Amino acid sequence: MQKIEIIKADITTLKVDAIVNAANSSLMGGGGVDGAIHRAAGPQLLEECRTLNGAKTGEAKITKGYNLPAKFIIHAVGPVWYGGHKNEEELLKNCYLNSLKLAIENKIKTIAFPSISTGAYRFPFDRAAKIAYKTVLDFLDLHPDIEKVFLVVFSDSDLEQFSRVIQK
Ligand code: ADP
Repeated sequence: MQKIEIIKADITTLKVDAIVNAANSSLMGGGGVDGAIHRAAGPQLLEECRTLNGAKTGEAKITKGYNLPAKFIIHAVGPVWYGGHKNEEELLKNCYLNSLKLAIENKIKTIAFPSISTGAYRFPFDRAAKIAYKTVLDFLDLHPDIEKVFLVVFSDSDLEQFSRVIQK
């Protein structure tokens, strides 16, 4: 069975051990998937987030999932795309790696990632998809205790683009 699955879904509905949030460095909520996660998890999430003191770009912090079907939320701060000369690719890779490390530490077996940085932060989708796929694939090779990783997109066109990227 394939351990990595690309799916189109609202990430807030997924019954996995953890979902990843594409957060900003305040970790205090925002638009896009971040807003959707806070709405679905409920106000207790913001209470816990207040205690985390933010996070730097590329870092990740974990909270409970509250009203979500997921037990945990891993809040990863993606890089804003400034054209590719500000270490954006490495920083995006770090988001995936640091989230997966937190997953291991918390005995998480199933995890779902949104397409971090490809919305308001403008990271080119195909480049981001390649980084996401390769980083997860390499990590799973070394950490077989993670059973399933969903890479979640939110539109048919992103789903098509992702399939093209991983066929290459
Ligand atoms: P960023 O600021 O990191 O770019 P965004 O939330 O603006 O974060 O966008 C990241 C990705 O999340 C985009 O591809 C967007 O289409 C997608 N997205 C938005 N809402 C949801 C959701 N409810 N479930 C899954 N993906 C979502």
